[in-house]
Amino acid sequence: MVKKALINIDYTYDFVADAGALTCGEPGRLIEEKIVQLTREFIDKGDYVVFAIDVHDEGDTYHPETKLFPPHNIRGMSGRDLFGGLQTVYEFNKEKENVHYIDKTRYSAFAGTDLEIKLRERGITELHLVGVCTDICVLHTAVDAYNKGFNIVVYKDATASFNLKGHEWALGHFEQSLGALVK
Ligand code: ZN
Repeated sequence: MVKKALINIDYTYDFVADAGALTCGEPGRLIEEKIVQLTREFIDKGDYVVFAIDVHDEGDTYHPETKLFPPHNIRGMSGRDLFGGLQTVYEFNKEKENVHYIDKTRYSAFAGTDLEIKLRERGITELHLVGVCTDICVLHTAVDAYNKGFNIVVYKDATASFNLKGHEWALGHFEQSLGALVK
């Protein structure tokens, strides 16, 4: 049987809420129900669920994003909380053996984290990606997953971007260039 993991990317207040610091806006909020449902399903079936969540230190002059974006997902601030129902699901399940939370500092969930080690030691070969933004952090995570030989599934109703064209382009790229199943 194929062992799979759900990689939950950056679905935080700052990236999703209307008043978030770097928000996807409405497209982000419209996927809440689907993300929550998939997360519950994976946790309940005993599949591995990773929350890979962007973190920044305020005023970090060495971080390349400091020049690109307004401050967001600052360590210890409420803007970094998971958005809406996903925070509730996480809080309820965070002590479970199959739930893992990762601080990530770059777009890809693999960059500078223990994600690959956690997946390999569990024999996981298939990654299911949800979250935001489709064309930034989900994309970079998918590219790394492809290069490392993982099979990829992306949910078009559980990913979103502030950039609709970017969202659609990325979905095409997952399918046509990374061999992902987009469903
Ligand atoms: Zn960031």
